[in-house]
Amino acid sequence: MAFTRATGKHRRPSRAVRVGANAAGVATLAATGVVAGLASPALASGGDHAAPSVEDTGLIQAVVMSNDVADNIGAQAQTQEHAAAQAAAKAKAEAEAKAQAAKAKKRAEEAKRKADAERAAKEKAARDEERRRLNTFVSPIDGSYVSTAYKASSGLWSSGSHTGVDFHAGEGTSVHSVGAGTVVEAGWGGAYGNNIVIKMNDGTYTQYGHLSSIGVSVGQTVTPGQQIALSGSTGNVTGPHLHFEARTSPQYGSDIDPVGYLRAHGVSL
Ligand SMILES: [Zn+2]
Repeated sequence: MAFTRATGKHRRPSRAVRVGANAAGVATLAATGVVAGLASPALASGGDHAAPSVEDTGLIQAVVMSNDVADNIGAQAQTQEHAAAQAAAKAKAEAEAKAQAAKAKKRAEEAKRKADAERAAKEKAARDEERRRLNTFVSPIDGSYVSTAYKASSGLWSSGSHTGVDFHAGEGTSVHSVGAGTVVEAGWGGAYGNNIVIKMNDGTYTQYGHLSSIGVSVGQTVTPGQQIALSGSTGNVTGPHLHFEARTSPQYGSDIDPVGYLRAHGVSL
């Protein structure tokens, strides 16, 4: 019979269960008498079967076909469900990826802001430090004092008036640049003997005279307190000392009060 296939040859266990359930439904219908008329011809012709089963009825064929359809629909539904689930999972993954990317971007932006702020702070600190360094002035001779004042009168000076101050210093005492600047003159300076002129970073000039030796050359940059020479008694002098001038230009005659100049730059004399 055609219904031998109904014995489960092509059926998956789940389908067998469903068939069983449908068969039970048929049995229920048969019991109510609704399908009794349909079932009886099969039962009647089933002489070669010792015990005709419910599956041998025409109704069962319909049920089995229904099961095939149901399986197809089920599979289709399952496929659609699967696709929907996949789409949902994909959308979820995409949303999560987007959220992660946004978070990463935010983190990167925050890190950049922090780095920028740190760099700006560091740069400002460096600038401040440089400003302090540039504004720091020192005495040209450590622990010395002014032995001859500015504008003092003496026959020693061609102008008749002292154009700088003399710092007390023995022969060979370390002479320091009073601040940061660039050497614009280093050599013999007539009445000044061996002398150095430095253009300070603030645009003023300082001069150091009567030196026994010069330790810098023209064009060299110097820092506050850097040793540039040793004191001496070269030039027009009566004894060793440091002649120190502050000027508004590199030229002789543009001198200003050196003590006032140094004090204005924070040096206590
Ligand atoms: Zn002098």
